[in-house]
Amino acid sequence: MSNKLPVYCRADIVVCGGGTAGAFAAIAAAEQGKKVLVVEQYGSIGGSATNALVTPIMHTHIDGNPQCSYISNKVRDRIYAYGGSDATGARFDPLMLKIVLEELCVEAGVKFLYHTYIADVVKDGSRITGIVVANKKGLQVVEADTFIDCTGDGDVSVLAGAEYTKGNPETGKCQPISLRYIVGGIDLAAVGKFFKSEIERTGVNAGINPDPANIYAAVTGAGKWTLGDLFEQAIANGDLDEEDKLYWQAFNIPGRKDSIAFNNPEIFDDVDGTDPDHLTKAQLEGRRRIYRQLRFYKKYMKGFENAYIAEIAPMVGVRETRNIVAEYVLTAEDLLCRHKFEDAICQSNYPVDIHGKSLNFQSYGKPIDDGKPYYEIPFRSLVVKGIDNLLVAGRCLGAEFLAQSSLRVQHSCRASGEAAGIGAAFALDKKVLPRELDGKEVRDEMEKRGAVFKK
Ligand SMILES: Cc1cc2nc3c(=O)[nH]c(=O)nc-3n(C[C@H](O)[C@H](O)[C@H](O)COP(=O)(O)OP(=O)(O)OC[C@H]3O[C@@H](n4cnc5c(N)ncnc54)[C@H](O)[C@@H]3O)c2cc1C
Repeated sequence: MSNKLPVYCRADIVVCGGGTAGAFAAIAAAEQGKKVLVVEQYGSIGGSATNALVTPIMHTHIDGNPQCSYISNKVRDRIYAYGGSDATGARFDPLMLKIVLEELCVEAGVKFLYHTYIADVVKDGSRITGIVVANKKGLQVVEADTFIDCTGDGDVSVLAGAEYTKGNPETGKCQPISLRYIVGGIDLAAVGKFFKSEIERTGVNAGINPDPANIYAAVTGAGKWTLGDLFEQAIANGDLDEEDKLYWQAFNIPGRKDSIAFNNPEIFDDVDGTDPDHLTKAQLEGRRRIYRQLRFYKKYMKGFENAYIAEIAPMVGVRETRNIVAEYVLTAEDLLCRHKFEDAICQSNYPVDIHGKSLNFQSYGKPIDDGKPYYEIPFRSLVVKGIDNLLVAGRCLGAEFLAQSSLRVQHSCRASGEAAGIGAAFALDKKVLPRELDGKEVRDEMEKRGAVFKK
């Protein structure tokens, strides 16, 4: 049937999914002079970071927090100039990031096809010739020389027949998912004062920052948290459920003087982000809990008297689903032992971050003591095995479950997208397949343009 479908357009490189990795891949490829189209199911770019309201960007846990991405510098400078982030760019307003990423794409010459879902691929042997897209015009084909799968779930790779793994190998379950939201109408100074009084009242100073310009609070299950007592009281009174205290986190948003972004409610069952029934359930269940949590803030915390729900993420926050089998699959051992690679395109020391139950680490080797306390992601982990002209970037790149739990954070997704964009462009210029490319050349180009790698 795909032979009979109309062709919407032909590009050099099609970036499939316009999330963090997709935006960075598109800008990087377009800045290499390529004709780039981003196909995205929502009406804006940024994916989880914008449409799932995921802020802030996690620290690399490397001294000086070096960013293996030159585009990160542009984003940081622009969003700060617009008043949408702190000076480091780490804490940011997701809505401002949408604007900044879109501007940088447009300036680089990237074209967009929004409100369009990638439903299938057209193949000729081991080569993808086009993706089948569905939108208000029906089904069409978008053709390109090279495709970059930045769908987060590896949709294009799987449709093209690539192998993948999914979920915790011990349980088969994916990581929990969350429906994030922003509350407005808050008196942040009053919240800060209240947090201070809770530190004094409980004698616990954990998971809390009362500075109104830098509000942070967390209650994540058992353990001592400043606000833990408040949650217990609310549970005892029937105002919250036990699940509300399993994972709750609050961050202020630069540029918004009356708002807090919440990294919850977190959902622990039916968490397969590739199952539309699970995603639907997360939206329904998440919104029910969000209203419950708003009532809790208003009743138990000072500063929330006039608070209201300013935004609920249109996109469910999915931490992990499929990981595509690439030319090199980054293993748990690589991460825990801090292996280095000649073709490294990202360095990170962000820890293993598996919510809920975690794997047994004892069975892995010890970190290599080479004076370089970080692991690396090789370019080969972006080259989809068995498909000639397909790269993968972002949280679904070639990695085992445990390794993915670390590299899924935004700074690594940015670096992998940037590397995939440059790699796709280089392969076309050199008339070689991505798997034949020396990833070191990609890293050199990233560095030449301002990405920072430790030596
Ligand atoms: C709840 C939660 C909290 C997190 N907290 C943090 C944090 O505090 N700090 C941090 O740094 N990281 C955090 N992360 C991790 C990080 O935000 C994500 O892993 C990262 O943003 C993923 O980027 P990505 O580009 O791989 O995927 P996404 O940003 O998810 O992008 C995928 C894009 O592809 C589009 N798409 C998917 N399928 C299709 C299709 N078939 N057709 C068309 N379009 C499609 C989607 O709409 C989306 O825009 C968190 C993640 C979650 C879920």
